[in-house]
Amino acid sequence: MMQGIYANIIIDRSIDRLDRTFQYRIPEALRGQLLAGMPVIVPFGQGNRETFGYVLEVTDEAEFEPSKMKEILRIAEKGAGAENLQIRLAAWMKHTYGSTMIAALRTVIPVKQKVRAVEKRDLWPGLSPERLAFQIAAYERRHLDKRVRFLTDLAKRAPIPYEEATGTYGLTPAMVRDMENKGILVSKKETQYRNPVSADSALQKHVVLSSEQQRIADEILSDYRSGHPGRYLIHGITGSGKTEVYMEIIEGVLRMGKEVIVLIPEIALTYQTVSRFAGRFGDRVSVLHSGLSMGERYDQCERARRGEISVMIGPRSALFTPFQNLGLIVMDEEHENSYKSESIPKYHAREAASELASYVGAGVVYGSATPSLEAYEKARRGEWRLYTLKERLTGGTLPKVYIEDLRKELRRGNRSIFSERLDRMMEERLNRNEQIMLFLNRRGYAGFVSCRACGHVMKCPHCDVSLSQHRGGRLICHYCGYEEPAVTLCPSCGSKYILGFRAGTEQIEEAVRKRFPASRILRMDADTTRSKNSYEAILKQFAHHEADILIGTQMIVKGHDFPNVTLVGILAADLSLHANDYRASERTFQLLTQAAGRAGRGEKPGEVVIQTYQPDHHSIIHAAAQDYEGFFEEEMTYRSLMGYPPSAHMVAVLVLSSKETVAKALAEDLAALTKESDKPVAVIGPAGAGIGKINDVYRYVFYVKASAYDDLIFVKDRLEAYLDRKGRGSESVQFDFDPLNAY
Ligand code: ADP
Ligand code: ZN
Ligand code: ZN
Repeated sequence: MMQGIYANIIIDRSIDRLDRTFQYRIPEALRGQLLAGMPVIVPFGQGNRETFGYVLEVTDEAEFEPSKMKEILRIAEKGAGAENLQIRLAAWMKHTYGSTMIAALRTVIPVKQKVRAVEKRDLWPGLSPERLAFQIAAYERRHLDKRVRFLTDLAKRAPIPYEEATGTYGLTPAMVRDMENKGILVSKKETQYRNPVSADSALQKHVVLSSEQQRIADEILSDYRSGHPGRYLIHGITGSGKTEVYMEIIEGVLRMGKEVIVLIPEIALTYQTVSRFAGRFGDRVSVLHSGLSMGERYDQCERARRGEISVMIGPRSALFTPFQNLGLIVMDEEHENSYKSESIPKYHAREAASELASYVGAGVVYGSATPSLEAYEKARRGEWRLYTLKERLTGGTLPKVYIEDLRKELRRGNRSIFSERLDRMMEERLNRNEQIMLFLNRRGYAGFVSCRACGHVMKCPHCDVSLSQHRGGRLICHYCGYEEPAVTLCPSCGSKYILGFRAGTEQIEEAVRKRFPASRILRMDADTTRSKNSYEAILKQFAHHEADILIGTQMIVKGHDFPNVTLVGILAADLSLHANDYRASERTFQLLTQAAGRAGRGEKPGEVVIQTYQPDHHSIIHAAAQDYEGFFEEEMTYRSLMGYPPSAHMVAVLVLSSKETVAKALAEDLAALTKESDKPVAVIGPAGAGIGKINDVYRYVFYVKASAYDDLIFVKDRLEAYLDRKGRGSESVQFDFDPLNAY
């Protein structure tokens, strides 16, 4: 039993290296009261000045001679504003997701970098006009032409920026220095924190909210007035006016003198989106995105800390903006996978946002066209308030959707990748000079094997997820490690057309070229978008109708509106349906719904063709009908039957080592230890991970399921304690709670 005699304390978050901690003794009176993240007052430095610090860790191990250790004075009443919140959030993350405190702190605290603030330097005349004229004449006599030209202009239109003097006028830094030394020039420096946002008033539209939109905003704002902002989910298709509702609420919250964080997935953080916010809220808006350098990101956080801005827009990490008076977090496209961190701590911004908001009594508004099961389930249980926006305000009608059974095509002798219907419709569109999008949803695709004759998919008998084909044809379950030899005949119908699914966008491009040689084609996938900006460039070309057909992976379903697209073809819905993890159906439903939503955005009605070997699958049927609730009901039944989140919880324990035997043995030890626990948990595995080795590091994984999240935390803590006792070698262990993908 740990007594907790010593505490490791960080003194000041601005110390460049956060892992610099100081150890203090915990006085008797405070033993058992200190937790990671708590603010404390300690004597610091030679003069033992009372200094603010945060508890990182409580321990029994003295790092140096205990008799020389100072004692903590007391628990601080209050932390230092935003800092306190961040550290508390870090402590929560450590507890909830498994991580060291340092890694959690590094996640939530903007890294302080040598700030290279952009310095604006202006040059002014240092002399009176008469004496300046005299000086110019003197330089003329000495034929110092550059100086003459520069000073002559300076006399007319001071100040001139330094860059212009050294650029256009061709002065060298030495010449400027020389004239400065002689008092001919004076330079004035101004430190500027660059604002990466520029408001584009052209994008500012004044809309009158529909009564439904207004009602949502009013209700939420009235919760604020009564002092109890809550959690809200706005479910509405793209174009149903969610963003306008967010902005209305934001405006209300800003009026109350509070600040707002708006989370938007990186891919949707386009110029248009940001400008819409900037157009409405002016220069109180800033943005964090991956295009900014660390220094620039830090600048923006500093501006937020100082209260110079009050709305921060950005992806996942914008959540950690150190506002002093946070009132609202908006999380658009709440279902996006990019909201989950892939590095430790593997937190989900959906949960972290709610946690952070609870510290300061802020509200959280989530929005999505296809909410995650987690979110919708909370709304259904009444934890969050649900609002639904049903109409599309951008005009256009919902497209007509056809499901094409590829098994029938095979029976009819059609071996092309286009069903008869899709083929015919493409021809029509090309004749009418309308545009087509062909979509291959490879997301999550992990080499499943299926029967082209009957649609049967090889699945794990224990986990009900698709098996992945490995070298030599062996089929493996990425959850439990179950294995089967290669199949040659379909176990369901005996057909020999049971094979792995090979599908790439290049093959599709080839097929289209062969079938429609005159068509103009653009392809968008990981290969064609490798260079910066190529993603935007391809979309722009397509928007300007420089191509008839856009072929792409899931990348094409987001963003831009293409009013001339009247046909969307989804070539093989099965690809993502048979990903090897329990979220495959949900992801497929989301992708199909989004893809279908691409058609008929303009005046002309749109049509969608979904090709599949499993036309009866609930993801496909409900996506075709744009029936979210129908999908939710069926999918939740499956999740609760199998004990998958959100009905229950699951943690992946990933063990990494450069030695395979070590990784395997440790995974087995940890799994055995987990099984010993008296909590109601189930252990699946361990098994080699789907990608068994990355950069020469071997990966073993096992999964633990439980109906209560806390039981998984208990397991995690126990494993961590075991690892601490054992002393960690080269191997490392990572936790991923409610993982979005199989390992
Ligand atoms: P979402 O965020 O759900 O995709 P937006 O808020 O972006 O929807 O709205 C889609 C389009 O409809 C935008 O161009 C927006 O300006 C417009 N719009 C939204 N609400 C209204 C309204 N009440 N009246 C007219 N146009 C609106
Ligand atoms: Zn079959
Ligand atoms: Zn399995």
